[in-house]
Amino acid sequence: MNEVKSPKKPLIYYYGIVLLVMLAFNFLLMPWITQRQIHQVDYTTFVEMLEEGQVGQVEVQQQENLVLFTSADGKTIYQAGMLPDSGLTQRLIDAGIPASGEVIQQSSPFLAILLSWVLPILIFVALGQYMSRKMMKNAGGPNAMMFGRSNAKVYVKSSEGIKFSDVAGEDEAKESLQEIVEYLHDPSKYREIGASMPKGILLVGPPGTGKTMLAKAVAGESNVPFFSMSGSEFVEMFVGMGASKVRDLFKQAKEKAPCIVFIDEIDAIGQKRDGRVGGNDEREQTLNQLLTEMDGFEGNNGVIILAATNRPESLDPALTRPGRFDRRVPVELPDLKGREDILKVHAKKIKVSDQVDWNKIARMASGASGAELANIVNEAALRAVRSGRTYATESDLEESIEVVIAGYQKKNAILTDQEKRIVAYHEIGHALVAALQTNSAPVQKITIIPRTSGALGYTMQVEDGNHYLMSQSELENKIATLTGGRAAEELVFQSASTGASNDIEQATRLARAMITRYGMSRDFDMVALETVQNQYLGGDTSLSCSAETAAKIDQQVVELIRRQHAKAAGLLAEHRAKLDELAQYLYEKETITGEEFMKILNG
Ligand code: ADP
Repeated sequence: MNEVKSPKKPLIYYYGIVLLVMLAFNFLLMPWITQRQIHQVDYTTFVEMLEEGQVGQVEVQQQENLVLFTSADGKTIYQAGMLPDSGLTQRLIDAGIPASGEVIQQSSPFLAILLSWVLPILIFVALGQYMSRKMMKNAGGPNAMMFGRSNAKVYVKSSEGIKFSDVAGEDEAKESLQEIVEYLHDPSKYREIGASMPKGILLVGPPGTGKTMLAKAVAGESNVPFFSMSGSEFVEMFVGMGASKVRDLFKQAKEKAPCIVFIDEIDAIGQKRDGRVGGNDEREQTLNQLLTEMDGFEGNNGVIILAATNRPESLDPALTRPGRFDRRVPVELPDLKGREDILKVHAKKIKVSDQVDWNKIARMASGASGAELANIVNEAALRAVRSGRTYATESDLEESIEVVIAGYQKKNAILTDQEKRIVAYHEIGHALVAALQTNSAPVQKITIIPRTSGALGYTMQVEDGNHYLMSQSELENKIATLTGGRAAEELVFQSASTGASNDIEQATRLARAMITRYGMSRDFDMVALETVQNQYLGGDTSLSCSAETAAKIDQQVVELIRRQHAKAAGLLAEHRAKLDELAQYLYEKETITGEEFMKILNG
């Protein structure tokens, strides 16, 4: 899409120009224009002219040692340098010049007023005219002189616009947006039958899953103008400004209909109005205006509003009711197939070896969003350039997954021998517990090269396919795996290290969720004790139970983890020889692949 948006110049820029013009005018041009031409003559000429009666008025400027005089008709001004002349007064009397010490007017008063007052006003008016005309031209374009104007970016029709084919995966979302595209192509088909399109469509999902892209693709496919604005751009310092921006945006949209208005991060203005003291007046007014505008136009006038958010639960119910944003399109993290497609879409933009097993790369990048996958492909290309190759290979992609997820390798981080050994046992501990429980390769690769993210070792999990459900025993196994690292350290070195802090957090979160949200404890049965707040942003939870229950929950969490920890320790003790062998291998080679791991384990 072509974005037609001129860079926004701040208000001060225009005022600065005007001020400069004024100053230059007053100090340089004014004196020059208003100064009547002064003829330089010498003193003798002055005396001669005086004697011949050709002088009208005389002004003696003693400080500058000058004498100014006019011709007899007063039209021409002369200037002469003074010579010591004691008889000057007498000469003046003789010539009949009034010795009143009158000052000769060097400029015409009328011209002076005209130039110093009228002209600047004219300049101001002209500048104003020019700017308002410029603003009309790029309607909707930003302008600092106009408060309360929406500075929505307008994308116009363009042949190279984003299409649905550029958005990989997300088939369900694309399907439900396809209808909008058809409607925008031919609204009459829908009007005839009396069907009206949803006025607003809310795209919800975690960050980087392609919500903005989908909205642009709808515009690209249907070939209509696309207004894009972020929710936060409405919120201004002054109350009422946001509301007027909303008004302006809708006015422009109606003029350009059929078109698409896209409001990114709508939660910035669409948050629940909870009437808290000291609430944000500006935001509420903006929201009210948005609600009114959405009610104000008929469903069939060709303006479709798309909005994106990753906090749908925080939106005001008035905004999500039917008639406003009545359709919700989930844009979730891509599954295995989706990831593979996204990788391929982005791989088209770089030169890459055709031997790459995209399925394997997609499996390695489990849990990555579209934006992360795009980043992974780009990192691989950068890496290829760095190592002087003309195309990226599979190992570039593998390494870049690690870079995107765990950070760069720390080239000169020096682990002591003992530390390296501990890290090796820790990582093998996890992998071994996982493998012993499931009898399959638990990891793609383990490395113990420190990363810039602070991780000393890094384990890349494999994912066979998509998992939508997890059973209680799978969850328990996962907790046991998480405790496996610490269990191995305790078994071998009889002491604990700080390396397990992340495992501990994850294990605790899982165990808590099992008890409070998944109903997997005997005592509480199927009672929801915790609610998730930000489903798409980290998933914070809040407890909703009595203090006694909370204490009981804590106790059960501890018991659950303790049981799994003991199980992991038991498994490792039983297979101590394998643990030593694998850890030694990892210690020496610094990297072990899933296949090598299984070969040693089964060997
Ligand atoms: P969101 O608005 O959901 O935060 P964006 O639409 O801005 O995410 O996506 C950011 C970038 O991630 C896009 O520019 C694109 O390169 C990449 N991306 C995300 N999802 C996809 C997808 N499904 N297919 C292709 N690229 C994607």
